[in-house]
Amino acid sequence: MTNKKAFKEATQFIAGGVNSPVRAFANVGSEPRFISQGKGAYIFDIEGNSYIDYVQSWGPLLFGHCDKDIQKACQKALKKGSSFGAPTLLETELAKLVLCDFPHLDKIRFVSSGTEATMSAIRLARGFTKKDKILKFEGCYHGHSDSLLVSAGSGATTFNSPSSLGVLEDVAKYTLVAKYNDLASVEELFEKHKDIACVIIEPIAGNMGLVPARQEFLEGLVKLCKANQSLVIFDEVMSGYRASYLGSYGINGIKADIVTFGKVIGGGLPAAAFAARAEIMDILSPLGGVYQAGTLSGNPLAMAAGIASITKAKKSKKLYEKLGKLAKKLTGGMKKLAEEKALPLQTCYVGSMFGYFFTQKPVLNYEDALKSDLKLFSKFHKHMLQRGVYLAPSQFETAFICSKMNDKMIAFTLEAVRESFKRI
Ligand SMILES: *Cc1c(COP(=O)(O)O)cnc(C)c1O
Repeated sequence: MTNKKAFKEATQFIAGGVNSPVRAFANVGSEPRFISQGKGAYIFDIEGNSYIDYVQSWGPLLFGHCDKDIQKACQKALKKGSSFGAPTLLETELAKLVLCDFPHLDKIRFVSSGTEATMSAIRLARGFTKKDKILKFEGCYHGHSDSLLVSAGSGATTFNSPSSLGVLEDVAKYTLVAKYNDLASVEELFEKHKDIACVIIEPIAGNMGLVPARQEFLEGLVKLCKANQSLVIFDEVMSGYRASYLGSYGINGIKADIVTFGKVIGGGLPAAAFAARAEIMDILSPLGGVYQAGTLSGNPLAMAAGIASITKAKKSKKLYEKLGKLAKKLTGGMKKLAEEKALPLQTCYVGSMFGYFFTQKPVLNYEDALKSDLKLFSKFHKHMLQRGVYLAPSQFETAFICSKMNDKMIAFTLEAVRESFKRI
């Protein structure tokens, strides 16, 4: 079976042939590789091609594919039963493991996806503040719940618009959209709207490509929210246990009221979470009036994988330093090769996350990111794939280093970059 054939067949039975849109490779005018297996830093497609994998399941696999410790933990849990819909000790164990390092987070609740975590965090913030509106940032992604699929209206309009069919204007109008790294745009909205329940932000944005927030901006944001009795939600679904062990908090110590986790917290199985101080978390059902539930929430396999993954990350003190060094080497090398060929390229890394944009100027927000040359990206992506390097098929994604990568793989990747840059 070829990838082409497999995709053709999949499209007959699965909408668009994929179960999440970016997997379709539509942005790069190609068809997806069908993966037969992964091993460490590598994935293999059904045609037998191997690739260094910088997608790592879009972030969760901090320790690469088929990590022995995570596999063992899952197998052990599976033998005892895959789901009970009743409490297990694993849930408390992971809860303690996560919470013990965050002085501002007392309690947590586990869910199965990042989408659920942010959706629930927003309901919680609304329930706690008894206010209606929420504020998000252009270019930030927080999953696909209705109130978060909203983009900024054009400069001239006051209303924001749904970014998906099926999302009501009536819902979208409660979601305000500000500009990333631009405190004035937030201040303006706070002046206009007195009923903002919360501000949700990726403190290290990874869904418009990699764009870290400036420290002064985040500090200002927290202050503004305090002054206006709004809660701050840091969506660390991607950056948690990725940018550093404690995500953005581990880098700048800035405390949000509610923090969401996902991806690495499930070690490659479906788990995510939201956490806050007790006063906020205790208004969740069954203690309080904010309803939230899930049949598979806190699933024992996912908890076991999460515990194994987080424990391993916590134990290896040098891990993030090592991953950061590889990310630095790779992005630094790419920048140098681009300069040699006079190609416009911006690069960035934070811990095990890295990004690159084919654009002339530094990227501080979504508008800057959109200036990237998508044709150049598309050609680059294709050449890299041909040379055995698997990158996300979109300019607006973050790439990931896993613990199984080494200097030799980075050198191989840079050689592929050199060859690709010659041809684009
Ligand atoms: C991936 C992601 C989500 C959504 O998580 P899913 O598990 O895909 O629902 C939410 N927020 C951020 C920052 C993410 O990167």
